[in-house]
Amino acid sequence: MHGLASESQSYQGRWGERIFRIRLFPGGITVSLGLHDRVQVYTYEASGRPWTFILDGRIYRRALNGTMLVKWRPKGQARQRQRLTQAKALRVEARARERLAAFAQAWHAGQLAFDHPPPRAAWERLQRALAWDEARSREDAAQYFRVYKPIGILPPDQYLAVVIQITEGCSFNTCTFCTFYRDRPFRIKTPEEVRAHSEAVRAYLGLGLPLRHGIFLGDANALVAPMPRLLRLLDTVRAAFPEEKFRSLYAFLDGFSGERKRPSDYAALAERGLHRVYIGLESGHAPLLRFLHKPGTPQDALAAVRAMKEGGLAVGVIVLLGAGGRAYAEGHVRDTIQLLNQMPLGREDIVYFSELVVTPNMPYAREAIRAGIEPLTPEEQHAQQKAIVEGLRFPKEHRPRISRYDIREFVY
Ligand code: SF4
Repeated sequence: MHGLASESQSYQGRWGERIFRIRLFPGGITVSLGLHDRVQVYTYEASGRPWTFILDGRIYRRALNGTMLVKWRPKGQARQRQRLTQAKALRVEARARERLAAFAQAWHAGQLAFDHPPPRAAWERLQRALAWDEARSREDAAQYFRVYKPIGILPPDQYLAVVIQITEGCSFNTCTFCTFYRDRPFRIKTPEEVRAHSEAVRAYLGLGLPLRHGIFLGDANALVAPMPRLLRLLDTVRAAFPEEKFRSLYAFLDGFSGERKRPSDYAALAERGLHRVYIGLESGHAPLLRFLHKPGTPQDALAAVRAMKEGGLAVGVIVLLGAGGRAYAEGHVRDTIQLLNQMPLGREDIVYFSELVVTPNMPYAREAIRAGIEPLTPEEQHAQQKAIVEGLRFPKEHRPRISRYDIREFVY
């Protein structure tokens, strides 16, 4: 037996006919049984909290609220996904636990042949995963709702950040296609509240904290807080998460009619560790933004991006595919290309394409019917992305990354 290094370590061996692999990594453990398309994978946080499973060809990812996202690809068909309620997710957890218990029993009975023996931490983490029963899982999800206001969305590269809600809600709440914060009045927390919240989050994530990196400042537009207040809040977060892996901070900036910040403000935030800001541009086409009730104009968004870049920040600019359907498609593509090309983007920046997902409770659904808007098919939305990307004119050394932003994939 030897100590557990900070990097990941693998231990493999045989269990009768089957091969297995145990991987220890900061904040978690993975046990894989079998090979290739028959592999079963069980990943838990070091605290025992279930994280991801691959069971019978399906990938399950547990959210802290106790629900799960499951993804699979039926033969010859597109990928499917479904959200499981907590009750269904608990059944999946139980199925995984049962199989893992058989593995642990075989280990205890000396039936596993390891290539080289794993450290004691592997056995301890396995035991904690097995101790995470239904009652524990329910209590953990209940605790999530005590620590956080439900987190509705994060950028796709931030699912493993630690979210700290220095503000709550959205300061605009007018966009017809967004229901994330409808029932949550906007407010900026006090430094004392942020300190208490940060401590509660640390305690809640517990032994699983090391598997996360970076801090995402919630909710929708934390950066609208006035500068002196914002700097104090960032200092409070910094003090609560002094580790190097939490040095980088991230946030959304959405809607541009609020407090305007200058390049020097962004430089001061960059000095505090702010790394990338995610901007809900949606479109460069002003009439479409008006139709969506999105606050601000494309020119406001451009000015904000220029100020952020001048202040030394990276940006992620989010474009909404299919917004305004066929009626706005031409203007949306044309003006979004034009606007993006005016942005001083570089290789550290990302242009995200997010498909419009309409649910019946959205004002967008009613307004689209009233305006006789014909929606774009998924194929047409892909074509819209392609047309915008083909119109971008960035020199090779300044080409931003292009990425998908699928809100249906979000799990925290
Ligand atoms: S500004 Fe952003 S978070 Fe606020 S309502 Fe609009 S899309 Fe939603």
